[in-house]
Amino acid sequence: MKFGGTSVKDAEAFERVAKIVSGERENSPVVITSAMAKVTDALLNAFEIAKRGDLSEAFATLKEHFKRHEAIAEELLNESQKKSFFTELTLAKEELSDLLLRAERRSLPFQMLKDAIVSYGEQLSSRLLAEVCKAKGLNARQVDSRRVIVTDDEYGSAKPIWDETEKFIQLELNGLLEAGEIPIMGGFIAANRSGETTTLGRGGSDYSAALIGAALRAREIQIWTDVTGVLTCDPRICSDARTIDVLSYNEAAELSYFGAKVLHPKTIQPAVDYAIPVRVCNSHQPNEKGTMVLAESEISSNKIKSIAHKTGITILRISSARMLGSYGFMSALFQVFERFRTVIDVISTSEVSVALTLDNTDSLDKIITELERLGDVEIEHGHAVICIVGEGLRASSGLASKLFSTIDDINISLISHGASSVNLTFVIKEEKVNEVIKRLHNSFF
Ligand code: ADP
Ligand code: ASP
Ligand code: MG
Repeated sequence: MKFGGTSVKDAEAFERVAKIVSGERENSPVVITSAMAKVTDALLNAFEIAKRGDLSEAFATLKEHFKRHEAIAEELLNESQKKSFFTELTLAKEELSDLLLRAERRSLPFQMLKDAIVSYGEQLSSRLLAEVCKAKGLNARQVDSRRVIVTDDEYGSAKPIWDETEKFIQLELNGLLEAGEIPIMGGFIAANRSGETTTLGRGGSDYSAALIGAALRAREIQIWTDVTGVLTCDPRICSDARTIDVLSYNEAAELSYFGAKVLHPKTIQPAVDYAIPVRVCNSHQPNEKGTMVLAESEISSNKIKSIAHKTGITILRISSARMLGSYGFMSALFQVFERFRTVIDVISTSEVSVALTLDNTDSLDKIITELERLGDVEIEHGHAVICIVGEGLRASSGLASKLFSTIDDINISLISHGASSVNLTFVIKEEKVNEVIKRLHNSFF
């Protein structure tokens, strides 16, 4: 059972979580929690301020968040629990202040420090949640995720080393579960082989839950959030977005990869590997059914299940007469992206040109310099990817026509369709994204 930041944002939310967990206690749950809402952002922000040289300001920005933890402890814990939580919090403050000082002095590699700092969000929320659950009569125990999830050294988006992770999770948790204890763990955080703290990427608590669920061959992985399941589009754009009852793993993977924040894109893989159902449910409305993500789903009557989008996308167009009738060009092209560890999202090709989109532009300048050896390169910033998802999309006729006629006054910069059977993806200017999604949602749902 994984609870996201908004599901642990204040005392009331912590109580709700304890109640939901209590309802499952006969089923040997393992609980994964995110940092309290806004805490991860605050820690990252404090790190940036310290890096710029203002240590006291950096630490000061965290005070309100320490207070939020204290307020929950005050409200929900008994005296001795309070005492031990406050001791833990004081220690966390000292350690954080020391880490921020190192950031200011640049005395350790930045990426490593950043992960160490940001991990306190989940360290504290999991400790607090374990205490709250105990106060509510549950046999709960905090387990440090860094002891069980082993990753490589890619700070900020570390990759778990599955064999070791699986073994450690089983060793650490099976005994506790058999003894009737409820392990409570922070999501998102892990450690590399030398024991340094790493993190799994923003939104990574979902991924932690899936890894743990897979290692334990759980009956179900539950993702508890602030909306009722996966919806037909981002509810912040269309307030009439509806809950989807069942999604296939493929549909969910495409949706989350192209921006449906409700599931972290990597969540699906461990669940697929062990055929574990993923249920997305609402911690504010625990009785609503939410969405089940399963190996297979039904084809919906209008073929489309949901519309996802991702903004901040850059298009690169590379054209070269050398492409004409030659081989090896694509390979040379992809090697450039591999060298700079940059993921390509959408791609489309013609006889002499390739257009592709990037989300991460950290190495853009270097990539362009290299690509210019292959051909002429054009760059267009400020785009958005829209991804229409539904099992059976590729095999259905008339759909593209309906889709594009709904937005026939909007310029489409790039289209990709047919690579997977479940999605149709296109790219437009970022400022049009809300309008396009609203029109498509109206027309299809
Ligand atoms: P958590 O803190 O629980 O991890 P997130 O903020 O990461 O929650 O994800 C939940 C949010 O994802 C929702 O509040 C919603 O605004 C957003 N979202 C975007 N697209 C979708 C979608 N298709 N279905 C449901 N939620 C979506
Ligand atoms: N707290 C982390 C984040 O905000 C991980 C998560 O919530 O899933 O990215
Ligand atoms: Mg999330």
